[in-house]
Amino acid sequence: VRELGLLEHASEGQVLNYIGGEFVPAQAGRWLEDLDPARNRRIASIPRSESSDVDDAANAASEARRGAWGQSGVGERADLLEAVADKIEARLDDFARLESLDTGKPFALARSVDIPRAVANFRFFAGAVRHQSTGCHSMANALNYTVRKPVGTFGLITPWNLPLYLLSWKTAPALAMGNCVVAKPSELTPLTASALAEVFSEIGAPAGCFNLVHGLGAEVGQAIVEHEDITGISFTGGTETGKRVAATAAPMFKKLSLELGGKNPSIVFADCDLEKTVEGVVRAAFANQGQVCLCGSRILVERSIYDQFSAAFVERVRELRPGDPQQGDTNFGALISLGHRDKVEGYAKLAAEEGGEILCGGKRPELSGDLAEGAFFEPTVVAGLAPSSRCSTEEIFGPVVTLHPFDTEAEALEIANGVRYGLAASVWTNDLTRAHRVSEAIESGMVWVNTWLLRDLRVPFGGMKDSGVGREGGRHSLEFFSETRNICIQL
Ligand code: NAP
Repeated sequence: VRELGLLEHASEGQVLNYIGGEFVPAQAGRWLEDLDPARNRRIASIPRSESSDVDDAANAASEARRGAWGQSGVGERADLLEAVADKIEARLDDFARLESLDTGKPFALARSVDIPRAVANFRFFAGAVRHQSTGCHSMANALNYTVRKPVGTFGLITPWNLPLYLLSWKTAPALAMGNCVVAKPSELTPLTASALAEVFSEIGAPAGCFNLVHGLGAEVGQAIVEHEDITGISFTGGTETGKRVAATAAPMFKKLSLELGGKNPSIVFADCDLEKTVEGVVRAAFANQGQVCLCGSRILVERSIYDQFSAAFVERVRELRPGDPQQGDTNFGALISLGHRDKVEGYAKLAAEEGGEILCGGKRPELSGDLAEGAFFEPTVVAGLAPSSRCSTEEIFGPVVTLHPFDTEAEALEIANGVRYGLAASVWTNDLTRAHRVSEAIESGMVWVNTWLLRDLRVPFGGMKDSGVGREGGRHSLEFFSETRNICIQL
């Protein structure tokens, strides 16, 4: 990072916290290493912060709420979000490089999806807050009107798979509604959050409205969730961590949104457009090396086309070749860490033990030079496993998917709904009536028909069952990041 000069404040390769408008190290002066997973080499150091650093950030936020930020109007806040969007867009390549180095995802993907989406998030919520309205309910002798006020300070805790994409998805509506923010990105992917802090600094955002504290989940994340002055938590991450967050935040009556794990089905019916379906299901399975919470990792295929589909699917998957994420033509990058690669590899081994047949992948690719040290794993397709097997029900969160034949719509639904998760699904059919019927019967927060991850930022986003609580997106985010209050006037 120092050699590339991508982070101005980190000229010595030491990324800093951003608290009260200042870049500062952790009070205790401790550091963590930030690695490029494609080469397993250190690219920066980040502060290993503690609860005292969270105290500082929460105090800075409270100060900002008592100051000019607390008095700001909707127009001013929308202008600020647009200024942030413009600055990120102007540094698109820098942001994409940082994201790719930190995550191991292809630079081309970060440049075409992650960073443009962060820009869109800021622009979208600037527009949404400008256009929001609240209700008025008249009675014969009284008038009710509803107002939305800031909640206070929000802790935003985000995972490593879509670092800036998800941080901006929370930061933009939180600020739009007049709250302050204490953000903690995953310690594995701190860089674009720090670049975002530089943007807030450059545009002269009021000190303390956006604060960033780097460090470990068990230390900084937990301290944020426990902090008395942090009145709301928006958490995206794994289901087990989500449970801990909920157990801490619920007795404190914090506003809480939990976007958790998934084990999403892609359901392929015989009447689908096979070519488009194969293309779509491959993308759903392996986008970002299978490390998107929405990835379709259980592929259910109507038996009459099962052989034809699986042959075409595997042929297409073989075109995904792990390679250097920094090269423009790489279509499959590294996983987030060696530890995660080992976990994914463990599932590929388990698949064989559970009686599955590995149709492709199942091993580390042979890469040369320093990439040989990286966290790579081949895209892997497994057939022949029972839908109730561990590989078919546990979230792997990597490039390992399972194929399952089904005979009837009812059987497809039984398999689809037979897991603890309920985040997203995709249905592939040309029968419109079936598409409606199946989509409504799938237990998941989101269903795509003949597509995957087609996003309109206005629609509700979130999961059911063990995939989370609450919805974000459009007016749902504006409602979550505010207190809706009713005022009744006797006329
Ligand atoms: P994770 O281990 O649960 O971590 C998520 C965030 O929580 C990280 O910033 C982590 O910090 C922090 N954290 C850990 N322990 C904490 C604690 N006790 N209190 C507060 N914060 C704590 O998840 P991950 O491995 O980063 O991400 C993968 C998971 O995220 C998958 O399950 C995936 O499905 C899910 N995800 C869900 C969505 C969605 O929208 N539903 C989107 C993306 C990802 P450290 O990293 O420093 O430990």
